[in-house]
Amino acid sequence: MNIKDISFEPTGDPFVDAGGMALEYIASRFPEKLLMELIEWAARIYVEKWDTKLNSVFHGSPITHPTTAMNVRIPKNMELFKNIISSKKNRGYCRYCSREDYLVDAGRDKSCLSGSGTLVNFHHSHEPGLMICAQCAVKYFFLPFSILQMGNLALLQTISARGKQYWMNKTVIENLNRIGKNTSEGILKSIYSNPENAIFRFAAEIITDNLTIEFDENLTLYYFTNFAASVDCEIYSIPSPVFRFMRLALKNCPQQWYRFVKRHYHISKSSWNYNESQWEKKGGAIAEEDYLNNKNDIHLKLLANESILPALQHFYKSEYLYAKPEMNNNMAIYYVREVLDMQKEQILLIKRIGSKIFELMEKECNYKKYLVMIEGSTRAYQLRSALIKIIKTNYRNGAEEPVVTMDEYVNFLFPDGSYWGEVRDLLLIFLYEKLHQHAINVAEVSDVELKETEDINEGA
Ligand SMILES: [Zn+2]
Repeated sequence: MNIKDISFEPTGDPFVDAGGMALEYIASRFPEKLLMELIEWAARIYVEKWDTKLNSVFHGSPITHPTTAMNVRIPKNMELFKNIISSKKNRGYCRYCSREDYLVDAGRDKSCLSGSGTLVNFHHSHEPGLMICAQCAVKYFFLPFSILQMGNLALLQTISARGKQYWMNKTVIENLNRIGKNTSEGILKSIYSNPENAIFRFAAEIITDNLTIEFDENLTLYYFTNFAASVDCEIYSIPSPVFRFMRLALKNCPQQWYRFVKRHYHISKSSWNYNESQWEKKGGAIAEEDYLNNKNDIHLKLLANESILPALQHFYKSEYLYAKPEMNNNMAIYYVREVLDMQKEQILLIKRIGSKIFELMEKECNYKKYLVMIEGSTRAYQLRSALIKIIKTNYRNGAEEPVVTMDEYVNFLFPDGSYWGEVRDLLLIFLYEKLHQHAINVAEVSDVELKETEDINEGA
């Protein structure tokens, strides 16, 4: 078997595919090397440059086995791969790529999280490991070049060509650059130790690298370790709808997005300065590197598929109260459309109701009254009764058009299965935007300070 015999089609297994990505690229950089020479090249990096610090990837392999003398680790590894590649024992279907081939058992010495000789009940027929083909075993050996150290190890699975290129640049190519400069000392270290924040940084970088191009992505971050007895894997994912929402926000209102996310870090003994949009401690701004691994409520909610619309409502209120330039509600629209799946008709209807309410506010020169009615609705019936009062007032004022028709109310405003709180939050967001656009003095609106989200400011 040589490099040209290996199929680099995705298998769907993130670890094998990431190893394959590294192998394919490294082979292209050293076209004169045969497959066994590439394996030896990688083994030399692992042993001679990385000091065999790969225990979190391969458990008990010739490279990492603690009782194996350093000077025989490379020859033992070469012998192992010679046997794998020439094995003619078990013919069958590979569990990773499903090709028919001769198979070898991949316990934790050759693959991550896959059981081992002493945990045979992990596998269907008590095999000593996953039964895989030589191609997949070889790809797996190159996995350390395409992961990051983040406390545990991190592997990003992407589906788009752009996402793949991003991860390749960040891991494989960066590794080769460092190896070239003789500064590579182990698996690349990330500035992150918080995988929840890291996956959002990766998503934002993939988007901003490709800002003018419309594409879809679905990111999964495997945060794992294959280390001794503490084997573990946590999985974080940014599904397509959240990715599309982020792409639209970062393309059309990046400053708002970053301000919104930044506001929602947990930072102890500090305060958020609304005017400067920064975290402060004893009067001085706190740098991003000091909190980038702290919990962030927006990241956590998006990962848990919980709505961020209430947080957006608070955010837009502060944008209005602190007179941020270029305020628009695009980010909220992208969110309800892409993630909450709110129908266009419902969004337009809520917008129209918002405009009618604003007309009433202007007519009565009373902004506070209507805002309090809607903001103060903490139950569905309160919002409904507030809307009915508004419908009545509009009628009494002799308006030609009703605020909302019966059909619209039933079919579009509160359709079955929708959550009433979303209607309230979006309505308020429209109203704040109107107040901002018409430069209505804050004193006319509310004497309530922004206290709703202050509770997040405790504990890190
Ligand atoms: Zn295979």
